[in-house]
Amino acid sequence: MVSVADAIEAVMSAVVPTPAEEVPVAEAGGRVLAQEVTAPLDIPPFENSQMDGFAVRSEDLVGASPSTPVGLHVIGTVPAGRAAQVAVGRGEALRIMTGAPLPQGADAVVKVEDTRVEGSLVEIRHAPARGEFVRPAGEDVRAGETVLRPGRALRAADVGLIASIGLPTVRVRTRPRVAILATGDELVPLGGTLGPGQIYNSNAYALAAAVREVGGTPTILGIVPDEPDAMRAAFASCASFDVILSTGGVSVGDFDFVKQIMDELGLERRFWQVAQKPGKPLTFAAQDGRLYFGLPGNPVSSLVCFTLYVAPALRRAMGLDAVFAPSVEVEMARSVRTARSLTELVRCTLEWRENGMLATPTGTQSSGVLRSLSLADCLVISPPGQEELAVGARPQALLLGQELALSPAHPFA
Ligand code: AMP
Ligand code: MG
Repeated sequence: MVSVADAIEAVMSAVVPTPAEEVPVAEAGGRVLAQEVTAPLDIPPFENSQMDGFAVRSEDLVGASPSTPVGLHVIGTVPAGRAAQVAVGRGEALRIMTGAPLPQGADAVVKVEDTRVEGSLVEIRHAPARGEFVRPAGEDVRAGETVLRPGRALRAADVGLIASIGLPTVRVRTRPRVAILATGDELVPLGGTLGPGQIYNSNAYALAAAVREVGGTPTILGIVPDEPDAMRAAFASCASFDVILSTGGVSVGDFDFVKQIMDELGLERRFWQVAQKPGKPLTFAAQDGRLYFGLPGNPVSSLVCFTLYVAPALRRAMGLDAVFAPSVEVEMARSVRTARSLTELVRCTLEWRENGMLATPTGTQSSGVLRSLSLADCLVISPPGQEELAVGARPQALLLGQELALSPAHPFA
């Protein structure tokens, strides 16, 4: 049996990065960048107007104000997407739209609100500084500058940046391909009818959703009966996957063959059993760059093991540095007894209070009660040696991805 920390270390040290692939920028959001992105040109590529107004020479307008306006001759219009055909000379102005290139001769833009047009004259009531409302070329990005580095999970603004420099495709890490094998004679696929003693194969669906959330591509390979031959065949058929997740059959029951089969197939076992609750029977092997997780069958255990070990491994395989669930200090609203010899992860809801986050257990902590995980916002950590999390105790908790909902009040109120 290993500690949680040692199990995490063993898993992370076995991770092999997935190869890179080229994808259209339209599909790059959320993917992990596998290249440096360097701008081949200035963004914006040319000096342009930040306002709808008039392109002017600032020296013509010294002293202009609402009480002492200055009149200029309007010699034309520059819309966005066109270059002006004429230069702005002394005493002249060009009507200009936002984003249009600044014409020759002009060095400032006066916004339309500070002007009044009278026939072919424009009355200007403001003395602009040189460069006022002019966006210089390269203000956003300079040619040759590196704007994004490998390992970045691309956000919308990053995708916009890549598009703004004109790249049609970008290299990203391939999504890890994840096989999901559910073992158990009692399991029935969705759509089937339950006979005596049977239950639906919920783990496969939960794990497939979890894999997708992290950015992997799951394949549900169906239900494997509790027979060594069937399991051997199932595991042997997974060679085209990066990660193999099985559920069930890793405990000490008479039909728990997974560990034995993994050993028989020569998969290099890194550990069996972690000093944790839920999820103690977890087994992990690695072979030829493939990761094999023998997850426990209990639905909560398999998902908690996914959160602790599989999700960080998938993220690291995709080249991310920050891969672990964020942890925060919480305050216990209710006491809960915990396993003294194990790291226990207690499913809790979170409520925001003035002085921090209040954690309340979501009811029975049985590893078969999936609803208690569905209701939970976090997993509160009770370290080994502790028998209780008392009311008012301030343990650490792993956030289960709800951090977006935890804001105390509407920030715009
Ligand atoms: P096992 O680890 O195979 O002993 O399974 C432990 C518990 O989890 C048993 O109650 C199983 O019926 C249940 N279980 C195993 N696999 C699944 C699954 N794929 N979906 C839902 N429950 C499961
Ligand atoms: Mg079983």
